[in-house]
Amino acid sequence: MTLSLTEPHEQVVDVRRARSSPWVESLSIYRLSTMSVPSPQVIVVGAGVSGLHAADLLTRRGHRVTVLEARDRVGGRLHSTTSGRDLGASWFWPGERRVAALVDVLGVAVHDQHIAGDALYDDPSQTVRLDGNPIDVPSFRFVDGADALTKALATRLHTDDHSDVRLDSHVQSIGVDSNGVQVGVGHADGDHVLDADHVIVALPPALAVSTIDFRPGLPSDLHAVAARTPVWMGAITKVVACYDSAFWRESGLSGSAVSHRGPMREIHDLSGPGGHPAALFGFAGTDTSSGPINETDVLDQLVRLFGPEAGSPTELVLADWRRERFTSPDEVERITDYSTFGHRVFQQPGLGGRLHWTSTETAPVSAGHIEGALAAAERAVAHIIEFDQAEDAEADAADADRHDSSGARS
Ligand SMILES: Cc1cc2nc3c(=O)[nH]c(=O)nc-3n(C[C@H](O)[C@H](O)[C@H](O)COP(=O)(O)OP(=O)(O)OC[C@H]3O[C@@H](n4cnc5c(N)ncnc54)[C@H](O)[C@@H]3O)c2cc1C
Repeated sequence: MTLSLTEPHEQVVDVRRARSSPWVESLSIYRLSTMSVPSPQVIVVGAGVSGLHAADLLTRRGHRVTVLEARDRVGGRLHSTTSGRDLGASWFWPGERRVAALVDVLGVAVHDQHIAGDALYDDPSQTVRLDGNPIDVPSFRFVDGADALTKALATRLHTDDHSDVRLDSHVQSIGVDSNGVQVGVGHADGDHVLDADHVIVALPPALAVSTIDFRPGLPSDLHAVAARTPVWMGAITKVVACYDSAFWRESGLSGSAVSHRGPMREIHDLSGPGGHPAALFGFAGTDTSSGPINETDVLDQLVRLFGPEAGSPTELVLADWRRERFTSPDEVERITDYSTFGHRVFQQPGLGGRLHWTSTETAPVSAGHIEGALAAAERAVAHIIEFDQAEDAEADAADADRHDSSGARS
């Protein structure tokens, strides 16, 4: 077995240690060549799917946009291995019209989730083969991994002179006054401040309020709601096991299981179209009393469910999102009240109309999903357009007044 995304003998890997692709290298080159871009009208904090979608929509309307991303890659919770196996989000579902539309516009290849065959039920006393698969529902996946979506969005932003995406740019402060916003950025080349008209906060609200210094401080109700808004899947470890073939399908199994014994609580087929490349994935828990899960227990469970072949994956990755400092605040597993998802405090711009929220957690529909991240981005973009139109109308009215009064004098 090789552990291609981790160091030898390490059992739990940070997702951030996963490989950097040639694409990311080309983005770094691009970044160096964008130093002469004029100051942006909108700064987007975070190059996850919500931030990139907002940046893309604004750029298409002629706004100058700079996306600041703390990691050395785009995608945030969309992150895939070199073989396109997802360490973060995998699925979208029928009816998620925004994802479907974006997939279409960007030409990203998708395929049906494999659900045929029998599922398994696993508890401490027994493992039962079910008749059929009541676990999975029809859904779609991305042929090259879900991060194909964010790479395609970032590539589109590259090609536009109005906008840029800056990696390794960690936003530390956001100041807002009547003239605009000032965003403090930490970078290996030194800290600096960027000015703009608007700022979009495209990261989970609880992470934003615990890591970014807002000046002036956020209103107390907004701060309180943000601090107690869970990070969707932020406390999950996703296990991905790759194989030479989807051998479970040959014995009529769907690859899905529900387990009350663990460590993975649910398991699904993660293979590509037609079973290639072959992979299974599982989610392991948020239980604070259990320490990090380990490879041995994972392999024992896979063998118990799918037989001896499951014990020899070609690649095994344990992606612990709790340890991702640019996804999850400390003790993320303790924030569990999902009633704040899509809360009204996120629906209106803050700090004089210049600060906007777009992470999936702020979406009034499909919060938690990629679809929600896109919906939240569209709401923020609509507010920025409204704000700018109101400002333009005010400026036109002031001009007209000046014109009238100078006409009256002459
Ligand atoms: C294991 C897992 C499985 C999932 N499965 C599914 C699924 O099957 N289907 C589905 O629809 N959804 C799924 N999701 C949820 C989905 O991934 C999210 O809804 C979506 O990716 C959120 O996008 P976002 O842009 O709102 O936030 P994020 O992707 O979290 O983006 C935030 C970005 O901000 C950056 N950032 C953070 N702090 C700073 C800072 N101070 N300065 C600059 N940048 C910063 C981060 O690096 C990141 O790139 C899953 C998530 C996980 C983790």
